[in-house]
Parts: sequence; structure tokens; C-alpha cells
Amino acid sequence: MKSVSLLIQNARQLLTLRSDQTGPRTGKHLEDLGMVEDGSVAVSEDKIILVGKTKEVLEQIKIDKRTKVIDARDKVILPGFVDCHTHPVFVNTREDEFEMRIKGKSYQEIAASGGGIKSSVKALRSKSKEELVQLALPRLDRMLSYGTTTIEAKSGYGLSVADEIKMLEVIAKLNRIHPIDLIPTFLGAHEIPEEYKNRRKDYIKLITEKMIPEVAKRKLAVFCDIFCEKGVFDIEESRKILTVAKEHGFKLKLHADQLSPLGGAKLAAELGAVSADHLEFIDDEGIRMMKKAGVIGVLLPGACFGLGLKEYPPAKKMIAKGLPVALATDFNPGSSMTESMPIILSLACLMMKMTPTEAITASTINSAYAVDKTKEVGSIEVGKKADLVIWNVQNYKEIPYHYGVNLINQVIKDGKVIPSPLAGEG
Ligand SMILES: [Zn+2]
Repeated sequence: MKSVSLLIQNARQLLTLRSDQTGPRTGKHLEDLGMVEDGSVAVSEDKIILVGKTKEVLEQIKIDKRTKVIDARDKVILPGFVDCHTHPVFVNTREDEFEMRIKGKSYQEIAASGGGIKSSVKALRSKSKEELVQLALPRLDRMLSYGTTTIEAKSGYGLSVADEIKMLEVIAKLNRIHPIDLIPTFLGAHEIPEEYKNRRKDYIKLITEKMIPEVAKRKLAVFCDIFCEKGVFDIEESRKILTVAKEHGFKLKLHADQLSPLGGAKLAAELGAVSADHLEFIDDEGIRMMKKAGVIGVLLPGACFGLGLKEYPPAKKMIAKGLPVALATDFNPGSSMTESMPIILSLACLMMKMTPTEAITASTINSAYAVDKTKEVGSIEVGKKADLVIWNVQNYKEIPYHYGVNLINQVIKDGKVIPSPLAGEG
């Protein structure tokens, strides 16, 4: 008999995300929800120790007065979402650009006139580490309240050695003080900063010779990412920067084929990146090469929606061709101002025709693969972190269907119940 600190019992649907497939789920396996009806989860401290039918779990555990018991009758349990692509450290919101786009200006036109990433860089450089931490905390609170328990978090609004280090140190501090786990990504190649406008070669040198070695030495990032796009970093420059990053031990990610078919997906395959993200303009050869190289396609429908674009990534084609896909918010002030993974699931279903089942797999276990954290998170299995979300729904399909509101009953992070304004409803 095992002693238990937390028992969640009687769930109508417990989605464990267990599967026979090892590695990221592809094709038909995106439908492997590992569902247990009338399911229970037993937790000891911060880890899951038992998962199964309520009756079977109750037979194998010992409940005492220290055990917190939650009744999940008529509710659904999912693993916490893994939001595998976010930019949560920034200063100014950019609602004026939102209005300019509505009135007809494009993202590229706004960037060319001093808005876009450049305006975020200017504001970020003026703030202290502590100010940036305070600005980010309520955003992480909102993410948690919408069921996200792990995020990948990028730098990329500093674009100088000191300011990129500052951003990554902010991410490290947030990871220490906030319940959400943050996985840091260095994105010094997000844009050419204003002062290097006519010296782009020098900025690339700064990235490869100063920033990457310094970030590596201080162990401030796990991944290195780049905005590989027309007018930002071309294929040759991206290959150069990412090759140096790889030599310094970083795992790789790319913002690829978002606004034009530049070939970033193919470069991701060539370099053995963990993921290529966006992919609105990926071609068949890009899909084939990514699949062969084991690169995960991270789809960000919030960025298409936030920019009011018609073109979404060809998710169904990717799934049909066996490419593993994951979902994320791309939370950032320029193109995707949302901390909510549930709305991303709705967009994945409605705009990319993914099924609710595929969307759930893509935002839990597959997004855990996209940040290389599947030993700890992404599914409800013995030995993993007790990162669980209890939903006030009868069927998991309600989550993308009933959009724009928070249907969460309770969030459990590392085995602890996070207080929610909606707890007890439903
Ligand atoms: Zn992004």
C-alpha cells in the first residue's frame, strides 16, 4: 500500500495520453488519448504514482488524514498543456498596430516603419530585470489559469549581449518563483537591431562570436531559435548561426516558412532541429524532409488569427503524411496576444480542421516532445509530474467547441492545487 498526498477520483473521462507509439504521435496515433472512464489519479508529493479505473486505484492505495481527496465526478481530467512556443517577456503591448492592421497595413509594413519587433526591443532595453519579472508574472498566472503548466520561453527583444542575457535571466527567475516550468530559448536572431541596420554581417558576428558562447557558458538556454524569413535572416545566415549554436550544445528551433516559402523547414531537417515552427508556407518537400529527419512541426494558429491572415499551416496534410505536429500559442505582443491554449485548440479545429482529439494530443504529449520534456510532462503516467487539469465538462470535445471562456475547474501543478476563481462551479 502506497501513501498518497492527493487523490483525484471518479473522473468521467481521464485522458492519460498513453499510447503504444514511442516518440511523438503521428497519423492515426494522434487519436491515442488513452482514455479511462471513471478514472482516478493518485499523487505522492509532486509525482503521479497510480493511474487507472477508480476501483483499481482505490484498491492499491492507503488514504489517511493527510490525503487531499478531490471528487472529479462529471468532470474531465487532462494533463496540463505544454505551450511549446511563447515570447512572454516584453514591456509594451502593441494594440495600436492591431488597429493599423485592421485598417489595412501589413505586419511587414508596420515593421518597416519602426513598429513591430523593433518597438518591443526599444522598450525592453529601458527596463530592469526586476521590472521585467513583475510585468511577466500576471501573464504566467493567466497561462496557468487556462491550464498551461509548462512553457517554452524565448528571449529576442534584447538583441544586444547584455539585454539578451538580461531576458534569459528574467526567464530563469520566473522559472524559480512561478509554479509554471519555463524552458529557455535564446532568440538573439529575432531581428537585426536598429544600430546594426547597415551592418548586418557585424550583428551576425555578434551573435555567433559573443552571444552564443556567453549564453552557453552561463547555461541560460536549452534551445537556440531564429526568425528565418524574407527581410529578417535568410537561409544562409540561418544555417551559419544555427550551426554555431549546435556546436555550443544548443538544441535547435526555427521560425520557418511563416510569411513566405523561404525553405526554413528544409533547413530545420538538414540541421536536425527539434522543431520547425509556423510553417504556413511549407511545401511537400519540406514536409517530407522534416518527417525523415524527425523534426516536429509546431503550428501556431493564434499568429494567423492575430494577424488576420487567411493562410493557416496545412495541418491535415502534415498529419496525413505522417509528420508529428504540436500546437502552441506563440504568445507575443505583435502577432498573438493570448495566453490561452484552449482558444488555440478551437482555432486548430475550426481553421485547420484538426479534430478535437488531434488538437489535444498536439498540445500535450506532442508539445512535450517539442521541448524535449516527455520524461516529466505531457501525459498522465506513473513517474511523471502531477501537472493535471480538471475541466468542468462532460466530454473533452467541449474544450475546443465551447470557445472563449474558461471551463477549468482546478489546475494541479507539481501535485499542488492552484486556487482558481472558477473552482467549485459546474
Ligand atoms: Zn514566435
